[in-house]
Amino acid sequence: MIFFKTKLKYLLAISFVALQFFGQAQTSRKIRFPNLPNYLTLVTDLHQHSVFSDGSVWPDIRVEEAIFDGVDVISLTEHLEYQPHQQDIPNKDRNRSYDLAKAYAEGTDLIVIRGAEITRNLPPGHSNALFIQDANKLIKENAIDAFREAKNQGAFIFWNHPNWIGQNRLGISQLSSLHQQLIDEGLLNGIEVTNENTFAEQALEIANQNNLTIMGTSDVHGLIDWLFDIPGGGHRPVTLVFAKERSEDGVKDALFRGRTVVWYQNNLIGQEQYLVPLIQSSLTMDSVYYETYDGQITQVANVRITNSSDATYVLSNESDFSLYTKQHVFTIDPNTTTTLMIKTGAFLDHFDLQFQVLNATFAYRKHPTITIPVILN
Ligand SMILES: [Zn+2]
Ligand SMILES: [Zn+2]
Repeated sequence: MIFFKTKLKYLLAISFVALQFFGQAQTSRKIRFPNLPNYLTLVTDLHQHSVFSDGSVWPDIRVEEAIFDGVDVISLTEHLEYQPHQQDIPNKDRNRSYDLAKAYAEGTDLIVIRGAEITRNLPPGHSNALFIQDANKLIKENAIDAFREAKNQGAFIFWNHPNWIGQNRLGISQLSSLHQQLIDEGLLNGIEVTNENTFAEQALEIANQNNLTIMGTSDVHGLIDWLFDIPGGGHRPVTLVFAKERSEDGVKDALFRGRTVVWYQNNLIGQEQYLVPLIQSSLTMDSVYYETYDGQITQVANVRITNSSDATYVLSNESDFSLYTKQHVFTIDPNTTTTLMIKTGAFLDHFDLQFQVLNATFAYRKHPTITIPVILN
């Protein structure tokens, strides 16, 4: 009896530890960013592969990985023209991958969008067409005809990995006259500034100059955990989409209107008009009080800042005030509350903190500045 009790206690202790451990592991890999004042923030990964083109996994794994990562929206964008597993997996129906993924996601919150990768030599290179009705109809001799068919089906089309050294030995994204024609005809709506583990600095300029939606994707072929070292604390690259509603139509509307920010290797990349509210929604004042010493109030304010996002922010102080414990460049950890000691030079009942966010980019090596209002409570 005693033995049983001890054993039960032991088992309970083990399950408690296990629950804590797995509970933490599960929540810590979920990608979390706050909503904007006027929009829902949806986490999307809109470029992925399965065995139905050149990937190594069945579509159910893509669905499960997305659910593990807290991804809201995915698309399996199989290569239309490149089907290396065809002998083992005869794939006449290019919609099959989507149909399977959609069925696996049934009963979950995951939104699966029908898409395909138009896979051509550069130019135009590879492009993803999302929100299509029938992938089979995109198989055309001429690349432009494939783009036109996608557009006829209502697609949002973006240029994939414009920096890819597999097609472009310089690794530098360059807009060709064919791309210009596609943009002019409304056949190219977005561009990847990050793909898998690469960043295309020039693609951000192409996006800004041509009003293309800024995209970032995993382009995963194997396993997300291996490619992005999730057990080691990594994260998959995603496009945060700012939608009016949590639905396929909501995502489509946001993509066509360019309401995105890419999260890539702990960097945020997007238009300043979306970066600033995203970061300001992530970093908010929790509380403030002035430090006392020997019973006397000082002119050093303790400002508690909550970071309700997964980003580790790298901030450079742009305020008039300096910090008591930190250099002007410092980091704020994700999902924590940090106390900053601010030397305000006087007792102030309100003031603004301003920081340049060094791990956020809106144009060529340009970082946004955010303001955190501090009000004594
Ligand atoms: Zn590709
Ligand atoms: Zn791809």
